[in-house]
Order: sequence, then C-alpha cells, then structure tokens
Amino acid sequence: MTHINNILNKKTLDQTDIISLLKGNKDEEITRLFRRAYDMKEAYIGKKVHYRGIIEFSNICQKNCFYCGIRIDNNRVTRYRMTDNEIREAAIFAYESGYGSIVLQGGEIKSKRFTDYITKLVRIIKKASNDKLGITLSLGEQSLDTYQKWFDAGAHRYLLRIETSNDKLYRQLHPPDHDFHERYHCLEKLRKIGYQVGTGMMIGLPNQTPGDIADDILFMKKIDVDMIGMGPFIPHNETPLRDSIKNFESKKAEQLKTSLKTIAITRLLLKDINIAATTALQALDPIGREKGIQAGANIIMPNITDKKYRESYKLYEDKPCMDENSSMCKKCLETRISSVNEAIGYNEWGDSPHFFKRTE
Ligand code: SAH
Ligand code: SF4
Repeated sequence: MTHINNILNKKTLDQTDIISLLKGNKDEEITRLFRRAYDMKEAYIGKKVHYRGIIEFSNICQKNCFYCGIRIDNNRVTRYRMTDNEIREAAIFAYESGYGSIVLQGGEIKSKRFTDYITKLVRIIKKASNDKLGITLSLGEQSLDTYQKWFDAGAHRYLLRIETSNDKLYRQLHPPDHDFHERYHCLEKLRKIGYQVGTGMMIGLPNQTPGDIADDILFMKKIDVDMIGMGPFIPHNETPLRDSIKNFESKKAEQLKTSLKTIAITRLLLKDINIAATTALQALDPIGREKGIQAGANIIMPNITDKKYRESYKLYEDKPCMDENSSMCKKCLETRISSVNEAIGYNEWGDSPHFFKRTE
C-alpha cells in the first residue's frame, strides 16, 4: 500500500510506476487509484458526463483488421448502409434529446465518392440541427484533403485509435498492408487541420504486456491528444483472433479490471482531456460504463443507430443494447448516470478542455 501511495503522490508517472499500478491487485489499492482518478476528473472536468450519440451508419469496410467483426473477409455479416433519411432522423433524435453531439462511425472506405458522401451527410446533420449538434467522425485513415473537406463541412472532432503504440504488436493484429506509421501520420494530419483529435487502444490484446499498455498511455500523452476512446479487446467469433485468448470467459473480470485501471492511470497523466467510458466495458459487466465514470472517464456514447442494423455492427461479441431502441437507451442511461451522482451536460458540446488550452 505504501508503495502504491508513494506512486500516487508523485508529480509525474514513468513507465515503471504505471506498470506497478497496472499490476497492483489489492482491492484497497485499486479503490485508491480509482478514487484519485475520479477526484482528478472532478477537479478538471466537474461532476458531469457528456453524451455523444453514436450512429453506426454502415458496416461496409475495405479493411481486414484481424480483431474486427466487420472486416472485409467476414462474409457471414449482412452488409448495410443507413439511408440519408435514417441518418437525419437519428441526428434529430440526438438533437431533440439534448445530446449535444453525435459520432458518425463506420467502416473505412477510401474513394472520392465516399468523401463526397460523408461531406453531404455532415451538411445534412448540421442543417437538421440548426448548426447546433457537434459532430465527431470515426471513419478511419483518409487523405489530408478528405479530412479537410469534412472539417470544412462542419465536423470538428475525429476519433482514430492507434490500437496499440507497439509497432510490432500492430503488425500481429493487421495484414501487411495496414501500416502503423500511416495511422500515426493520419493523427498528425487531423491535428494540423484543427480537429479535436482522439485516439486510443484496445486493452488486453493477445501478447500485450503491462509495459505495452504503459507505453500506450505515455504515447497518448506525448502526442498530446484531446480525447481518448479505449476499451477492452473482446474476441469476435468470425475473426482470425477468435481463439487468441484462451478461456476468455474466465478472463472477463481481469480484462475489465485492467481496462478500468488504464482509464484511471490515463486520467492521472492526462488531466483535462475527454475520456470515454466505452460500450465494450458494458460487454464485460452490466455496469461497466458506470465503473468507467467512477474510474475517471467523462464521456458516454449512447447508441442511436436504428435497432434493425445493430446486429450487423458487432465489432466484438456480447455487444450490449442490441435489442433496445434509442429512447430506451436514453432512459436507461439517465438512471445509470444519476446512480453514480453525476449530472448530464445536456445541450452542450462538452469539448475537451485540453483542446482549448493547447490552441490558446
Ligand atoms: N473503421 C473505423 C471505425 C470503426 S472501428 C476505424 O477502424 O477507425 C472502431 C474501433 O472498434 C476500432 O478502432 C477498434 O479499436 C474497435 N474494435 C474493433 N474490433 C474490436 C474487438 N474485437 N474488441 C474491441 N474493440 C474492437
Ligand atoms: Fe474496418 Fe475499423 Fe473494423 Fe478495421 S477496425 S476492419 S477499419 S471497421
């Protein structure tokens, strides 16, 4: 305990400190870590959670990431793309529910047609919400020109997870033509344009060590990100990594614990950024997202995708809320968030305070 206390009292944490915190397994130590991270979140962000209504508008993807349920080689999944009108309706639902922001997420497609299509969607969403909804995009690696077009159309945040900051591990998780350096370069392009930049990684990947996770956190600090979306790796049955973690069922609790510790440590190092309590936490524990908030996260992404498409956007197994519609999600979340004594920042964008500080 003294050892952990000493670490928590340090001004900055190095790789060794982070590894010690990740490995600390005594309940009282973990509780102390979460408490410290939560206090940090309260001091820098307040006792408030902001929403990003997520529209998973299409599962058509040109890439073949070994972990993902909608990779191009999975021919067992029914491919879909929501209509413009369905996307507009989802955005209006978010706007009228006071969500403040939406995330438009989908598979990665690189083409002029796709660039123009997304530009059009961003404009539709802005218009449908009288310019009020904030828009985050999560559409993978694109050219500077494409990112710029989407920014000019009105998107102001972009989420592109680095997945792992370990180049070697990255190569084990992707086919040879998926390039770690290009992904990193995309983060630089986004920053140059003026987006609020979000990244993150999967936690508990096969062959990932506590040292790797510590390096991921330090990497995100070094590149000075504004927002983070990270969560547990959960094997998908129709992917090459289906059996990559033996007895996954028995490891779920450990996987959740490591993810929550990672959120907490990240908050201690990156004090004023937005950190999402991602849906994957809830796949491991019915109250996983609430636990994420209590460990220092401040963003929740309610699913506002039309119910009929949800089954086809399973990036991983056990994804929650598959049979709920958007208004059920809304009610259920309100109850969950008040259960941890947090307020919801309705009708606010809830931008990352860090972004304003670094661009001052
Ligand atoms: N195509 C875009 C956005 C959709 S994928 C992109 O790749 O950036 C969004 C995220 O889902 C990915 O970044 C990845 O971290 C996560 N993901 C995919 N498969 C997963 C799995 N099996 N377990 C946990 N997260 C997964
Ligand atoms: Fe496509 Fe993203 Fe899944 Fe990779 S993680 S296969 S880019 S949807």
